[in-house]
Amino acid sequence: MSETNMALIEKERTYLMVKPDGVKRGLTGEVITRIERCGLKIVALKMFWATREQINEHYPKDDAWLMRIGEKTKVNYDKYGLDIKTLGTEDNKEIGLMVRGWLLDYLTSAPMVKMVIEGPHAVDLVRKMAGNTIPAQAEMGTIRGDFSVDSAAFANRDKRAIFNVVHASETPEEAKHEIGFWFSPEEIFDFEKTDNSIYKVVA
Ligand code: ADP
Ligand code: MG
Repeated sequence: MSETNMALIEKERTYLMVKPDGVKRGLTGEVITRIERCGLKIVALKMFWATREQINEHYPKDDAWLMRIGEKTKVNYDKYGLDIKTLGTEDNKEIGLMVRGWLLDYLTSAPMVKMVIEGPHAVDLVRKMAGNTIPAQAEMGTIRGDFSVDSAAFANRDKRAIFNVVHASETPEEAKHEIGFWFSPEEIFDFEKTDNSIYKVVA
């Protein structure tokens, strides 16, 4: 790995949002604690109430993203022997579009807490801490596994998005878009964490 890549990964940034169910259940502190406890650095933080237009810009609109949501949903239905036709369509893209609509309702239903997190492998680490999209399949010890029992089947029966406590960027590219969309550069701070020396113990 080149020195440039190492430097980029060391200061990698990701975007995390405590969703309305997390805020309303008083889980914001719990989420923040888990991030800080593992050594990652929160460099921006704010509570806000999103508009539908903002959520529409936050989530990707491309066919690949929509189809992937459809695929994940089908896998979840198959696992439990449920009939995907009860959703009204078997088409992956149509399922994706439907879920996208429910996400607009869900993420504008109450305030959220948004943050930028920085540190080595921030994107992958925060995804690991968040756990599987579907809480019933998320490992215990992850945020979604510890604090939710929701599933695609239950959410879709009620025509709503899966309540899974947090949103976290999936890739560095997604993180770049989301950080740029939700924060202006002057809202993101550059400071040294006192425990940074942990990486230099053996140096
Ligand atoms: P993640 O949040 O883990 O990155 P996705 O990007 O695939 O997951 O989906 C975005 C959000 O859409 C999920 O966090 C969840 O709230 C919601 N969602 C995904 N699939 C479904 C589904 N089948 N039914 C309802 N909501 C869903
Ligand atoms: Mg995602």
